[in-house]
Amino acid sequence: MIIVMIPSATDQQVATVASFVERAGLKPHIMNGVERKVFGVIGQIDREFEQQAERLEGVDFVQRITKPYKLASREGREASTVKVGNVVIGGPTCVIMAGPCAVETEEQLMESARIVKAAGAHMLRGGAFKPRTGPYAFQGLAEDGLKLLAQARDATGLPIVTEVKTPSAVELVARYADMLQIGTRNMQNYDLLIEAGKSGKPVLLKRGMSSTYEEWLLAAEYILANGNPNVVLCERGIRSFEQYTRNVLDVAAIPVIKRLSHLPIIADPSHATGKWHLVEPMSYAAVAAGADGLIIEVHPNPDKAWSDGAQSLTPENFSKLMQNLQKFAIAAGRTL
Ligand code: PEP
Ligand code: MN
Repeated sequence: MIIVMIPSATDQQVATVASFVERAGLKPHIMNGVERKVFGVIGQIDREFEQQAERLEGVDFVQRITKPYKLASREGREASTVKVGNVVIGGPTCVIMAGPCAVETEEQLMESARIVKAAGAHMLRGGAFKPRTGPYAFQGLAEDGLKLLAQARDATGLPIVTEVKTPSAVELVARYADMLQIGTRNMQNYDLLIEAGKSGKPVLLKRGMSSTYEEWLLAAEYILANGNPNVVLCERGIRSFEQYTRNVLDVAAIPVIKRLSHLPIIADPSHATGKWHLVEPMSYAAVAAGADGLIIEVHPNPDKAWSDGAQSLTPENFSKLMQNLQKFAIAAGRTL
């Protein structure tokens, strides 16, 4: 940590800071700048020490050097991979998860599964517990939806990723799913993160729509700290003032997270844009930026979808995207 003194700090104030640091069992290294004095403080520093140091007279600000997320941090670690069934996320393959926003009917889901498998997807997505903005919208088929997902996995061999909204449902969803999705609205539902951690199942942790990278990585830290190393992050767009798109895909999040964390990161161009015709270009952008995969909404008949039809790809458009994506994956040093 560094402690930066104000330019007018007195010798007495500087001496007080030095003895405060020593009394905490830490080593103060003073540096004399042109305008001000700066302490480098070496040792294990907790939040209380940081706050107390900032309150001392003559101190301008303090700055931590190490990250508060210890297990999610890249420091001293190789990039990690997460295995979901026989699919490896974070390895040479750019992993494509695709399927409808929600599980609607047996016919709709089985057809979706066949379509995405035929186009080359590696995993099937579909929500059985839907976090809808309003209470009157379709909320999902719950356990019946999970059963259909399991049936689709049996028919196609594709591992399933599906959302879990509450801590009490983790056990149920984990019984059917290969990967638990924690949605944007629940990124800071700490009880849910803890349960997902205890389950040991791979977790797809979406970024909160107004969350910073640090908040997101601290949310991942909850899962990791509860004994589950299988966390994959998902950039799904953040809120801004623009109304044309549903959210703003933060493409820079991909290389930033790769620098800050060892966890794999994928992108969700469907929820990021809210418009089907933007899904293809944003998929290319994410893969070019180094994403370990994509999660894309595909529906056999988007016009009739019970949720998120506007951003869902038709089977033809998904198949075209998969073909065109090859070039971008290869350019990014990946295979599809
Ligand atoms: C979804 O994947 O269907 C979903 C609701 O995503 P998000 O949490 O990113 O809105
Ligand atoms: Mn959706």
